[in-house]
Amino acid sequence: MRPPPYLLLDVDGVLVPFPDAGGDSPATHTRHDVVPVGRSADDPVTVWLNPAHGPLLMQVIRTGLVTPVWCTSWRQDATTLIGPLLGLPPMPYIDLPRPQITNSHPDGYLWKRDHADTWLGDAPAIWIDDDFAGLDHEWAAERTACGRATALVQPDPHVGLLAEHLVEVLAWAALLPVIQSDAPGAPRAAEAA
Ligand SMILES: [Mg+2]
Repeated sequence: MRPPPYLLLDVDGVLVPFPDAGGDSPATHTRHDVVPVGRSADDPVTVWLNPAHGPLLMQVIRTGLVTPVWCTSWRQDATTLIGPLLGLPPMPYIDLPRPQITNSHPDGYLWKRDHADTWLGDAPAIWIDDDFAGLDHEWAAERTACGRATALVQPDPHVGLLAEHLVEVLAWAALLPVIQSDAPGAPRAAEAA
């Protein structure tokens, strides 16, 4: 049997929404001060997290339909600092590099994408990130057409993750066998079995 597809999960703009013009975070979110690796304890980073996100994500994880993986510039700190604040178990993370870039689309698409693509290999994936560009959606469509089913879920960065995004994840994962067998480059069902 095929392993479940990956669920790539971003932090900033997804679990930690960007503040509005007045500097406020959504009322659903609670303030935490965390100290990422390499930072001094007297210089913490403030994050705003929605305590409801933990149980929502756990419901998704418990279905076994996806394998969650952090894909965020928080890197290892996502699994050691952010996840525990939401009650999430330790999850693997993509060890993204720290490129010297001034915007998140230095080549016209999300800077994480090539690293995620390499990390995924041929595996199917659904990816939640607030910052996809048009070229990322093209990449997902091309990957899907080649039999590596890929879906992008893009929350509003000022709102962050909503339950409906996770409904989308589960619906996609449940339909994955159909999506895979429809792709022109996909092996026939008998070959894949
Ligand atoms: Mg983000």
